[in-house]
This record gives sequence, C-alpha cells and structure tokens, in this order.
Amino acid sequence: MANSIESVLVETRVFPPPQDFVKQANVSGQAAYQALLEEADRDPNAFWGRMAREQLQWTKPFTKVLDESRAPFFEWFGDGELNVSANCLDANLKNGNANKVAIIFEADSGEVLKVTYQQLYERVCKFANGLKSLGYKAGDRSIIYLPMSIEAIVAMQACARLGITHSVVFGGFSAKSLHERIVDVGASLVITADEQMRGGKAIALKPAVDEAFGMGGCEAVRHSIVYKRTGGKVNWDAKRDVWMHDLVEKQATDCAPVPVNAEHPLFILYTSGSTGKPKGVQHSSGGYLLWAKLTMQWVFDAKASDVFWCTADVGWVTGHTYITYGPLAAGLTQVVFEGVPTYPDAGRFWKMIQDHKVSIFYTAPTAIRSLIKASDANDAHHPKSYDMSSLRLLGSVGEPINPEAWMWYYNNVGGGRCPIVDTWWQTETGGHMITPLPGATPLKPGSCTTRLPGITAAIVDELGGDVEAGHGGFLVIKRPWPSMIRNIWGDPDRFEKSYFPPELRGYYLAGDGAQCDKDGCFWIMGRIDDVLNVSGHRLGTMEVESALVAHEMVAEAAVVGRPDATTGEAVVAFVVLKRSRPEGDEAIAIGKQLRDWVAKEIGPIAKPKEIRFGDNLPKTRSGKIMRRLLRVVAKGEVVTQDVSTLENPAILDQLSKPV
Ligand code: ATP
Ligand code: MG
Repeated sequence: MANSIESVLVETRVFPPPQDFVKQANVSGQAAYQALLEEADRDPNAFWGRMAREQLQWTKPFTKVLDESRAPFFEWFGDGELNVSANCLDANLKNGNANKVAIIFEADSGEVLKVTYQQLYERVCKFANGLKSLGYKAGDRSIIYLPMSIEAIVAMQACARLGITHSVVFGGFSAKSLHERIVDVGASLVITADEQMRGGKAIALKPAVDEAFGMGGCEAVRHSIVYKRTGGKVNWDAKRDVWMHDLVEKQATDCAPVPVNAEHPLFILYTSGSTGKPKGVQHSSGGYLLWAKLTMQWVFDAKASDVFWCTADVGWVTGHTYITYGPLAAGLTQVVFEGVPTYPDAGRFWKMIQDHKVSIFYTAPTAIRSLIKASDANDAHHPKSYDMSSLRLLGSVGEPINPEAWMWYYNNVGGGRCPIVDTWWQTETGGHMITPLPGATPLKPGSCTTRLPGITAAIVDELGGDVEAGHGGFLVIKRPWPSMIRNIWGDPDRFEKSYFPPELRGYYLAGDGAQCDKDGCFWIMGRIDDVLNVSGHRLGTMEVESALVAHEMVAEAAVVGRPDATTGEAVVAFVVLKRSRPEGDEAIAIGKQLRDWVAKEIGPIAKPKEIRFGDNLPKTRSGKIMRRLLRVVAKGEVVTQDVSTLENPAILDQLSKPV
C-alpha cells in the first residue's frame, strides 16, 4: 500500500495490571472489559441508550438514541432534555455529597482554599442569577478568559446552568487571538479577571480584553464581568464592565437549572493549532456529559475516596472534560492549581501530591519531560524526596509519551505500583478514546493500548480499507459516538472536509498516523501532516523521537523532513539535552553520537542527516511540539504560518542556525 507508514520502533516491555488494583477496579479484569466491548459492538444504540439512562438525570427522557439521517451531522439522544450543571451539582446534593469537598484550590502562592459541593452549588447559582439579571439566557454565547480558579469553574457551570454556550480562551493568549474568538463565536458576554498569577508574577488579563474590543467587530458584547484576582489597576468602562463580586453579592443561592435539548451546544473550544489554524469545535450537552462521566469511572477508576488532580488548564479540552465537568459529575474531590510546575521550584507537583494526598494524577508528557530534566539536575526536586504513597493511578495526555519518559513516570512518580493510563483523544472527541483500563489492560510503554467500549477505532489506508496489524495507516473511528464534535462553529464545510473525507467511507478521520499490534494495541506514530518520506519509506515522527529520547543525554526531541536531492526527504532532528545546549565542536561531536545511536536503535533509514540543539522546542501553549514550524526552519525559510498559539516564538531563531 502506497500510503502506509512504516514502524521501526521495537518495544517489548509489558506490565500486567497489579492484582490488588484489579480486585477493586470499576472495570475489573479483561473479561469485564471484553463484555462491555462486545455489548457495545453487538448493538451500539442499545448500549449507548442504557449508559445514558443509567448515568444521567434527564428532565425529559429521550426516545431515540442516534439519528444518522443527516450524517456526518449526527444527533444523539435528540429529543431528550437535561441540564449539565444540575447533573454536576444538584445531583451531588441529592447523593449525600453536600458537605464533601469538591475543590481543593491551590494558588500560585501556595495558599489553599476548599469548597464543598454545597458551597460550589451556591456560588454557581448566585453567578447564574447575576447573569440572568443582566439579561443573558439560553442560546447566548460567552467568552471566558480567566486564570485557573474556582471562579473559572463557577463561570463555566453557571453558563451551563442557563444554557449559555461558553468558549474558554486560555489566559496566555494575546488580544489578537482573543479578538478572533470573540468575533468567531459571536459572543455577547466576556468573563475575565484583572490579572492572573503565574510563577510569582502578576500578568494582566483585562487589558487584552480592552484591546480586543478596540479592534472592532465586538459590538455584540454587552458586558465584561471582571473577577478581582489581584486588585491590580485596570481601566474601567462603566457602561460595559461589571465586577464579579458586585454582580453576585445580593443574588439568591438557588437558581433553577434551565433544561436544554441534549444537542444544545454546551461549549465551543478551539483546537491547539499544532497542525494549522485552530478550529472552533462545537460540543453537545447530553452526549458530551455522558462520556465525561463514564470515562471518569472506567479510565480513572473514580471512587468516592479519591483525590483527583488533572494539571491541565480549563482553556484546553482536558480541563473541560476532566476538571469542570467529569470529576464533578462523578462526585469526586479534585485539586485545582493556579500556578506552574516549576514555581517556586521543580518539586511543586510532587509537594502538592504529598500535601493533598492526591490518589489519581493526570498530566502531559511535556510536563513529565521537563520535570525529568529538572529532577536529574537536583535531587531535592526529584519525586523520591517527597511522600508519593497516596498515588494509586497515573495518567498521560496531549502527545505520545516516549517509552523512556513513560518508564521514568512509572518508576519514579508511581513507585512501580501505579498503572499509567496513556489516554489518546482530541478536542474533537470530547473524552478518552483509546486508553488502558487500569484494572484490566496490560500496559506497554509508549502505546495508548486498546479502544474503549463503543469506540470503533481502527487503522485504515487512504481508501478506508483495513490495514493489517504491524503496519501504519490513518487512525479513524468507524461509527459515531455520543461525545463527538458536532460541527466546526460556523463552518460546516470545513467540518465535513476535515473529519469525514468522502474516500474514507464516512469514518471519522482523526488526523493521526498509527499502527495496531497483534494484541490490538494502538501506537500513535505522529500527525499525518508530519509523516517523513525517506527513500520511499514513510516514517512517523514519534518513533524516531522516542529513539532520541531513549539516549541518556536527551530530554526532548522533534524530527521533521527536509527536501533532499538523493533521498527525497532527509530527517532533521531538533534536540534538547538534559544538560545545557552544546555549541561548536562539542555540538558536532554529540550530534554524531546521537545520529549513530538512532541508526543502531531503529535502523539506518531513520538516521538524522542533521541535528540541531536548542534550549527548548517550539510548542503550543498547551505544550505540544509544533513540527510544522520546524519544517520551515529546517528548510532555511522564514515562518509565515499561523503562530497565534505558539508559546515561545524566540526559540525559532535559535533553531534556525545549523550547527
Ligand atoms: P490542531 O488540531 O489545531 O492541529 P491539536 O491536534 O494539537 O491541534 P488537540 O485536540 O489539543 O489539538 O490535540 C489532539 C492531538 O494530540 C491528537 O490528535 C494527538 O495527535 C495528540 N495526542 C493527544 N493525546 C495523545 C496520546 N495519549 N498519545 C498520542 N498522541 C496524543
Ligand atoms: Mg488536531
């Protein structure tokens, strides 16, 4: 097959689930997993209908599970009605969780605030009543531009309570990105803060909102509600700006949840922009919440006694599903963190796990790789210097985790006791798709292992034909699932073209290249857009990068292809060492060592033609490597693409210079 992707990685380590974990797990053992898988495959609609009735409280029960008549614009539970916030809050008051801590908030400074489910309910109701008093109602769209805070969760939940569709914009984005999103969603309301605290510094937020308004096209916005985080000085427009504390002050502590149709858009969220211009992904209410809650139970094995911590920002989908909605729907206590992993020092995460007795910890490979580097440099910041015994389960999300980073996480953070759920999913999928179940699935470092029940993930060729085990191809989901993307906001054509290309038989195209091994385990090989083509061999980026990261000197690596007269494309690798960046002769010597290492580890075709060293790699603000920019840099050209979501533009200059 012309378009297959070749696999060069050999990884044979397997870690069966620990027996005591299996015994207590929500999905206990392979047979239980297989039974769910078979139930879902046999009669998907009956399966999803059962789950939706068991898991959610409907104000009007649905009679039809799935409507495919307008595919790929699928409708789930289309005549049912519910309220998402009532399922997250009111349900817990009824369940006896009123006095249970819902959120343990740790500020950048280390200050800790706790709120119970009762208190959270009252805060959400007061804020929703405030929004109502300003005339906002179901069908309106809000932009939420807030730091990580209890207030951000309150704002999202209050919107959900009234049926206002929210679009959260990460606090690190500029006025320009914010402006684009305000205009694109047609917002009538903006919720922001005066400033945010990160790494001991106050960073202004409201001025970016003012600047965005100044760019024009935001006339539909009637108010900006401002959370006073620091008390820093702000400009004030008395007609438009409202302090959050003034708005909620005299409001009642009850607010009836507004029932909405299951298909009502709960939120619009822009993708990270790793491969191009961000897409405004539109999600539903019923199907989305169902999967947020179910995956909490299956994948995170949620138990009443757990302390859950997802380190993502609410500006990303991970923060939506596994902070604002999933953990609350599942009735857990969770940690919410304002700050950054390296402040006041690189032991911050480990100290927080120790202090709050975190039992389930969910973070991203980029954080793990940077903390490996930091704890190698200083024992005091190594997990071994902290009491990590409260942990029972670890998770990873955002990028493929290189097998060596996986092993470090497993041994040093999890003490060799805790399963790791390497969860593959996307903004578009709403929740986990391919991941181990911690009490059932044998783990393989670097593989996100097997598909969840009801998720028909497969590897196909460019015509949608199944690709056999051991060969790479396109990762697709063959049948719709409840939490799937419903549309690209305002751009149905781009939605159909991007995700349901006609030649793929109506399958959902994820945009990632992957292979399946003989045990049915998936290995993500990289983005389709990033595949390398060396002497006719098509290689994913992940495996070459993992070989580099497996070298003891290497902290991070990104590889791209560059046009080459003899091989078609040559592999160029950008490498961050654990030690400082080498220059001159030393860089040449280490480069040679690493090139030989790759040739020996995975074969001569993958051997980089050139290696460049940097202090860092270009990343999205959610921490993903942006290889599309490195491709331009490797060719010696100037970057003219969309860089609105790039975290550290200055790094491109450093990486532009060959050794
Ligand atoms: P854009 O779509 O704008 O290019 P993006 O794809 O980076 O941005 P997200 O939806 O945040 O935006 O990221 C989803 C992608 O992240 C997946 O398609 C996949 O490439 C990668 N990913 C997420 N989790 C994993 C994982 N566990 N293993 C491998 N890759 C992962
Ligand atoms: Mg994507």
